[in-house]
Amino acid sequence: MKAAIICVGTELLMGSTLNTHSQYLSLKLSELGIPMYYHGVVGDNPDRLKEMLAHYYQTVDLIILSGGLGPTEDDLTKEIVCEYMNVPLVFSEELHQNLIERFKNYGHRQMTTNNLKQCNIPDPGIVLANPNGTAPGCIVSSQGKTAILLPGPPSELIPMFENEAFPYLAKLSKGVLVSKYIRTFGIGESACETEILDLIGLTNPTLATYAKPGEVMLRITASGESEAEAEALLEPVLKEVENRLGGYIYAYDNEELETVLVKALKAADKTIALAESCTGGLISSRIVNVPGSSEVFGTGVVSYANEAKMNLLKVSEEILETQGAVSEACAQAMTEGLFEISGADLCVAVTGIAGPEGGTVDKPVGLVYLDLFMDGIHETHRLQFSGNRERIRNTTTLHALHKSLVKIWGE
Ligand code: AMP
Ligand code: MG
Repeated sequence: MKAAIICVGTELLMGSTLNTHSQYLSLKLSELGIPMYYHGVVGDNPDRLKEMLAHYYQTVDLIILSGGLGPTEDDLTKEIVCEYMNVPLVFSEELHQNLIERFKNYGHRQMTTNNLKQCNIPDPGIVLANPNGTAPGCIVSSQGKTAILLPGPPSELIPMFENEAFPYLAKLSKGVLVSKYIRTFGIGESACETEILDLIGLTNPTLATYAKPGEVMLRITASGESEAEAEALLEPVLKEVENRLGGYIYAYDNEELETVLVKALKAADKTIALAESCTGGLISSRIVNVPGSSEVFGTGVVSYANEAKMNLLKVSEEILETQGAVSEACAQAMTEGLFEISGADLCVAVTGIAGPEGGTVDKPVGLVYLDLFMDGIHETHRLQFSGNRERIRNTTTLHALHKSLVKIWGE
């Protein structure tokens, strides 16, 4: 079975609503092992919807449509799909009674005559109940082609898909797809690809790389008749990738850097504290994102101005005057001051030039000093990043989290 998605709604084309259904439905279909061939978005326009159906059905057997099931004039998905498939729409008295009941419960809302078209259902067809709205969904098939029609609002589409369409599709599809995501830090996408080039040609499982800000993610996807079969195919390729990229891998699947760091700190029974200049609290904020981080993180100091570095962290005026705030000496003084006030096992400080102004030849924009102070020993990095202010601050954050993680792992 091959599938496509068509999202119907002029608001999607105009950009006023973000099309989130394509991603949601694609993730669900890949869970079911149903390959997705096309994503389409079309306005509330009968001719163009018909054209898209005709085009997609040349290749696929299943189209999932969202939107256009409402009561108003421009809601026409059901009418067009049924016309295209040559399946008549009939008035369902049962749905009509349900709708009357529903409006009684609403109390304040009156049922209008245009609501009646929501009681028309394809015959033959399957009605998908909508406990969260007035528009039922439906499944209609003809000549080996199937359409699943779902309402537009996510609060209606998601439960309807989970409860009704997913089980229906699970019965139809034979295979399953299993994916594993491997997250790496510190290796660029092209270097990463070079390491695993021969594996990228594989067909089952397939291996792909994705560059995200500051990291490269790899996806291995295997298909099989059962989950166990797919996993057995995936396993040796995963091992091989681990052999080749081991040092760069920091997590799997949805785990974020800060989550792995908090876990590592807990496992090592260590605490962390932060003194942030150019990141202005970003690193602390990422750590606080992790539930339960209070066990390992208690102190985060934002010392942006020189005065704050002196008053809060006891950085000497001499260092600031002779070496400057963006210097190895300042980063080290920051962690020492931080240790005095926090007593944390690992004290981390960053100080840098996020730009766009403030750079010089010796200290260009993007220069960052990162110091990690543990057991009385400094580990200082002079890092040079590029990009705009936001990017420099975010990259600094990622590097601080990653270097902290490596430090704790090294314990
Ligand atoms: P409809 O069923 O066409 O009346 O759609 C009702 C509402 O559902 C729209 O106004 C959007 O807010 C939302 N919606 C429709 N399609 C999508 C989509 N593809 N992704 C996210 N929201 C959507
Ligand atoms: Mg609409």
